[in-house]
Amino acid sequence: MALLDRALVRLLPAVPRPVVRRIADRYIAGEEIDDAVATVSRLNAEGKTATIDVLGEEIHNAEEAQQIVDAYGDAIEAIGDHELDANVSIKPTALGLKLGYDVGRGNLETVVRHALERSNFVRIDMEDSTTTDDTLRMYRELRDIGLDNVGVVLQARLRRTLEDIAALADLRPNVRICKGIYLEPESIAYTDFEEIRASYVRSLEALVETASFVGIATHDEFLISEGKRIARERYEFQMLLGVRESLGQELVRRGERLRIYVPFGRQWYEYSLRRLQENPRIAGYVATDTVGRLLSRNGGRS
Ligand SMILES: Cc1cc2nc3c(=O)[nH]c(=O)nc-3n(C[C@H](O)[C@H](O)[C@H](O)COP(=O)(O)OP(=O)(O)OC[C@H]3O[C@@H](n4cnc5c(N)ncnc54)[C@H](O)[C@@H]3O)c2cc1C
Repeated sequence: MALLDRALVRLLPAVPRPVVRRIADRYIAGEEIDDAVATVSRLNAEGKTATIDVLGEEIHNAEEAQQIVDAYGDAIEAIGDHELDANVSIKPTALGLKLGYDVGRGNLETVVRHALERSNFVRIDMEDSTTTDDTLRMYRELRDIGLDNVGVVLQARLRRTLEDIAALADLRPNVRICKGIYLEPESIAYTDFEEIRASYVRSLEALVETASFVGIATHDEFLISEGKRIARERYEFQMLLGVRESLGQELVRRGERLRIYVPFGRQWYEYSLRRLQENPRIAGYVATDTVGRLLSRNGGRS
């Protein structure tokens, strides 16, 4: 990443929300379920599957967590009613994990049972390392009570991931493997780019031995080609909405299965910041937006 881009990533929280909103637009389907349905319909028509995420990790009380549960209920219904090729992805903190383990666990079970009724599947996203143990515990508890329409995410960035794969092996888990977006201390995480890549490859090798299915979530061309080499069956590639779309098209053209992560909702800010932090050309986007608005304001006057 260029120097200016790196500097801007640090300053992103100071960028006005309307600017963040405009430049992060490409990463989010919209605010309403109808926006997500329209986006997923388009993706399905392009030969891609999807996973719908209700944005909502900034919740503060049980009522807000309940609203997220209801929104997932609506999403599961909409997927069925519109016959979309899509499942849902869910963040434990959006369901109230930080309000208490039992709150998050109970709400997750509600969503997974609803998905089961509509023959759908729930992927539990993985958040920062303060949630890893609880998230894996929830996953195991749901599987232990016979709910098999649920999968989990592991992060190559974390040093513990190979151990987590071994610990989950008896469940034959359905796992999405990703690099991990949350910056973690060196004591528990790899911080070097190549070390994270190497950990990703090792994790994938372990998962093809033990998992029932692997979602290879990355836009990194090196890891995509490693994915093709290592995973021969029971896998798919996964990418984020608005990221490296031509690379995704290319995968589909070559006959690979590709699932796109489609977030929607009113709580778009935290997710948008994380995506912009990963965009290697962030300074250019902010500059174009600012200059564009200045020009159009000027144009309006003359
Ligand atoms: C489907 C899916 C689900 C995910 N779920 C989780 C999760 O549950 N928990 C979690 O911690 N992380 C999750 N992530 C995020 C993931 O951990 C990484 O942070 C993210 O995918 C970037 O890593 P990368 O492998 O694409 O490699 P990178 O090296 O970051 O990116 C590879 C290339 O892709 C391009 N690129 C990447 N991001 C952007 C962007 N925002 N805008 C423009 N170009 C970009 C750049 O050109 C870059 O060179 C998920 C990612 C995907 C694709």
